[in-house]
Amino acid sequence: MELIDIGVNLAHDSFDVDRKAVIERARGLGVVQMVVTGSSEDSTRQAIELSRDAPGVLFATAGVHPHHAADLTPELLAPLEALAYAPEVVAVGECGLDYFRDLSPRPLQRRAFEWQLEIAARVGKPVFLHQRDAHDDFLPILRAHGVKSGVAHCFTGGEQERDAYLELGLHIGITGWINDERRGVELRNVVRQIPADRLLIETDAPYLLPRDIRPAPGSRRNEPAYLPYVVHAIAKAREDSPEAVAAASTRAARKLFGLPET
Ligand SMILES: [Zn+2]
Repeated sequence: MELIDIGVNLAHDSFDVDRKAVIERARGLGVVQMVVTGSSEDSTRQAIELSRDAPGVLFATAGVHPHHAADLTPELLAPLEALAYAPEVVAVGECGLDYFRDLSPRPLQRRAFEWQLEIAARVGKPVFLHQRDAHDDFLPILRAHGVKSGVAHCFTGGEQERDAYLELGLHIGITGWINDERRGVELRNVVRQIPADRLLIETDAPYLLPRDIRPAPGSRRNEPAYLPYVVHAIAKAREDSPEAVAAASTRAARKLFGLPET
């Protein structure tokens, strides 16, 4: 199986001690390419640097997470846009709205989100979207900006959200949320009706460690090597084979982000 982890926060400091080993472990288990999430100006720069060191294997996104929306001042827009043009960058984001944690004031979240959608349109790259408990504001903004190309990453919504994203032409990113026995119940149902060519897989490491890893890891830190657990959970929910889920999601990720064959 050739897998692509479309969302891994490799710039996170929990990987400072063993980043190279983390990447090698993942590759050893078939994770042939990874998209490194940029969630701030700093982590975007790091994601690009990491991608330059591993050409054809690592790719980056350039963006500011809604948690950090208050940091995205008008002065930072030009530097962020310049980063988004880097050849290693395959998407703009992660950007969006998070009303679950509300770490930045909502008006600033909306402003930062719209700015990044404008950057994506100018740069001509897909968007890497984050949304939690904000669907009612999120969807009209996507529509107003005519967003057609991107991924709703770490999707945890219901059927209506899924259908709204699919109708826009977006892809849907599934994480180890689906492996959670209790929290994943709805997602295991919702994932059945995502067309295979719109379904992408991700760990969102170091977050969202799949809860069904056996033997249970000593650390709570998730890593891209655990992506096969996500594939298996998706396959089981869709009554499909892991090989088919892997092949379709790899093809879809390459097409969306313009990644080379390995
Ligand atoms: Zn996210």
